[in-house]
Amino acid sequence: MPIRQLPPDLVNRIAAGEVVERPASVVKELIENAIDAGASRIAVTTAGGGKSLIRVEDDGVGMDRDDLILSVERHATSKLDDDRLEAIRTLGFRGEALASIGAVAALSIATRPAGALSGLRLAVERGVRSGPVPQAMNRGTIVEVRDLFAAVPARLKFLKSERAEAAAITDVVKRLAMANPQIHFVLEGADRAAANWPAQPREGGLAARLSQVMGEDFAANAVPLGLARHGVVVAGLAGLPTYSRANSLSQFYFVNGRSVRDKVLLGAVRAAYADFTFRDRFPAIALYLAIDPAEVDVNVHPAKAELRFRDPGAVRSAVIRAIAEALDAAGYRAATTVADAVLQAVRAPEPAEAGFAASVGY
Ligand code: ADP
Ligand code: MG
Repeated sequence: MPIRQLPPDLVNRIAAGEVVERPASVVKELIENAIDAGASRIAVTTAGGGKSLIRVEDDGVGMDRDDLILSVERHATSKLDDDRLEAIRTLGFRGEALASIGAVAALSIATRPAGALSGLRLAVERGVRSGPVPQAMNRGTIVEVRDLFAAVPARLKFLKSERAEAAAITDVVKRLAMANPQIHFVLEGADRAAANWPAQPREGGLAARLSQVMGEDFAANAVPLGLARHGVVVAGLAGLPTYSRANSLSQFYFVNGRSVRDKVLLGAVRAAYADFTFRDRFPAIALYLAIDPAEVDVNVHPAKAELRFRDPGAVRSAVIRAIAEALDAAGYRAATTVADAVLQAVRAPEPAEAGFAASVGY
């Protein structure tokens, strides 16, 4: 066969296979776009577990006519003004999400930037664009995705039940809400129990957001983390050992504002709790790490929330120490800490009985 350049529609459908795995990945891309647009309120509506409808409305900066048209083109992004991938501060930058979604679903984008007299609406169906046409609306952007994968039966078959897809969407929204307490999140639809999490202040609002999302029970049974060590900052809430779970569904990890799954962090948490929980129990925890972006590679797989630390040992020890200190303050002292105290007491010139007892916490 001769070599041929693939037509754009086919290229988009192939790319969609990577970016758009299931309804929850569409929701993630759309919410990240709203966050990048500076939204202070993001409302998500779903139907049929996101298979029949996903609607994301934001009050962010919106787009003008030219940008709206460009936004659904492949590799079109407003987020890289030079070629410095390492300096990215936005969640998106690949410029593929909207083009990919438009290739595998019926996509509609209505948007109105500040200063515009009205909004504009553009539609893409099976890669074919129509509009923009005028649309009455407030400032911001409303993206609707209907009938995801309806034209790609092979993908449709791999989706789980409506319930499972709806739950996966809830999980995505939870994580984004936990990473952005200053944004008001609303999640509703006939396929779910509604959630409404009003904005929390930028400073000190994290604990309030965590009790909105993870429940007041968690917040009441957790201790605050706070440690800065060797360029790694650890924050969040660590559940008390008595508040452990049978699975890891109540463990949430964030690195530089992104929800991640990472073996180093999982391992560090397990080690930190090893003395207090049974092997098959998982403590509930919301762990936030801030680290120099040069020390972490988030580009391993953009859709899969994986990352690589340049110095995993430093991260591990910072996390273990942060949790140990927090639990210690709550009266839980790890065997290693007790051993340290014993050694110190033994080494002290005059290990007075009372002082020794106090130093090991008895
Ligand atoms: P990326 O986010 O990687 O740039 P997308 O395909 O997700 O790629 O979006 C393309 C462009 O469309 C963005 O760079 C942005 O300029 C614009 N855009 C998308 N969603 C929104 C939104 N909710 N509000 C304002 N602009 C948006
Ligand atoms: Mg994007």
